Amino acid sequence: MMELISYLGYLLATCLFIFGLKRLGSPNTARQGNIISACGMFIGVLSTFIQTGFEGFQLILIGIIVGAVIGVLAAKLVAMTAMPEMVALLNGFGGGSSLLVAFGAYLVAPQIGAVTAVITVVSIVIGGLTLTGSIVAWAKLAGTISTRPFSFFGQQVLNALILLGLIAAIVIFSMDAMSHITLLYAVIGVALVLGVLSVMAIGGGDMPVVIALLNSYSGIAAAAAGSVIGNVLLIVAGLLVGASGLILTSIMCKAMNRSLANVLFGGFGSVSSSSSQSDKDQGEVNPITADDAYFVLEAARSVVIVPGYGMAVAQAQHSVRELGDILEEHGVNVRYAIHPVAGRMPGHMNVLLAESNVPYEQLFEMDDINPIIDNVDVCLVIGANDVVNPDALEDEASPIYGMPIIEVSRSQTVFVMKRSMNPGFAGIQNPLFFKDNTRMLFGDAKESLQALIGEFKE
Ligand code: NDP
Repeated sequence: MMELISYLGYLLATCLFIFGLKRLGSPNTARQGNIISACGMFIGVLSTFIQTGFEGFQLILIGIIVGAVIGVLAAKLVAMTAMPEMVALLNGFGGGSSLLVAFGAYLVAPQIGAVTAVITVVSIVIGGLTLTGSIVAWAKLAGTISTRPFSFFGQQVLNALILLGLIAAIVIFSMDAMSHITLLYAVIGVALVLGVLSVMAIGGGDMPVVIALLNSYSGIAAAAAGSVIGNVLLIVAGLLVGASGLILTSIMCKAMNRSLANVLFGGFGSVSSSSSQSDKDQGEVNPITADDAYFVLEAARSVVIVPGYGMAVAQAQHSVRELGDILEEHGVNVRYAIHPVAGRMPGHMNVLLAESNVPYEQLFEMDDINPIIDNVDVCLVIGANDVVNPDALEDEASPIYGMPIIEVSRSQTVFVMKRSMNPGFAGIQNPLFFKDNTRMLFGDAKESLQALIGEFKE
């Protein structure tokens, strides 16, 4: 009877996970999706207790309370801009847990068959490299260590040797798991080192993609651990995380028009292109002052705000919202156009705009804004650069050629807020800045926005 109840609980939890994931797909249902998934997790944990007859309940309860207190405090204290770091750490802990579960299961019952032995090693390897890889990703994002790609002579050879060693370990362990505990300790050590080496080799700018990938790894490790201990829910939840992490990774690579191999081994962002048209003399840019920009904005009927990484740097999201509200009060139709890889993490702009309570119905995805952009009076580009670079459409030699962009240059007027003519993440110049209908409002985005707001208030 208890078995049946717990399996029904697992089924309900699985449905809630899937339903919750679906709701996470849109900003206005995401909070709900999170709560639904959390309920699913609660039911899952309860069902596991029922299935195991509440064995070791007190100890587990202490663990849950300690974990919950740390989790709530961390979630409350972390700044919105430090979310990528927090996600990186959470992925790492997920991987570490899977490693411990698989290793613990082996210590309790080392007489395992070949298949379980293979899955145990897989869970330990993926879990271990996810743990240390995520810690390195966290350190790069937080600026604790250098963000430059770290490589050394013979790195590829070492990686190949490690891979061969791990395959050999799997074969040996699967033949006689019981008498090879030392080998398993060695595998744990190698997996931890592999995580450090592989993420150290990737530049800081690519960490968001790496984190999405590590998220997927943590799911795969959990699914393997679930299979070791025979827990159906852990397998299902792990596979859901694994699959959604892979989908997110693929979406991000596609939005940057780069392959996963290029992200993992390309060292992108550390060098600038040398052969694209962006190196040619583009002529002069047209600067504009805040008071002149004010007159144009005041006369506009529709304005599209395109935020980018610079908005995050300037912490200008609240000023953006304030200007948006003022424009609305003046009868202007205000929309926010979000590029999928604007900023430095998936949903970066959505998170910041949500923090400043921009109404969800004013947020538009790139594919929805581009078809109507010809009729927009003013596009206000706030600290965005690569995601509005027309070279992505026009210059085959450009490193970002093929990347979909928000086609702001098709609107009547473009205002670009940035501090200088410095390039963005891709390290290339942007011909948009030299177009006849573009005006450059130089300065820190927050200060420029405040100056515009001041003009309206006067
Ligand atoms: P970019 O990195 O292309 O450009 C940001 C611009 O912001 C710079 O040109 C900079 O110019 C300006 N800026 C910086 N600080 C300020 C400030 N205080 N005030 C005003 N402007 C400022 O950003 P985008 O968002 O357009 O593009 C994101 C890039 O990051 C893409 O190339 C994408 O592929 C990449 N990327 C995104 C990931 C994601 O998940 N979102 C993951 C990995 C990479 P200046 O210094 O002159 O002010």
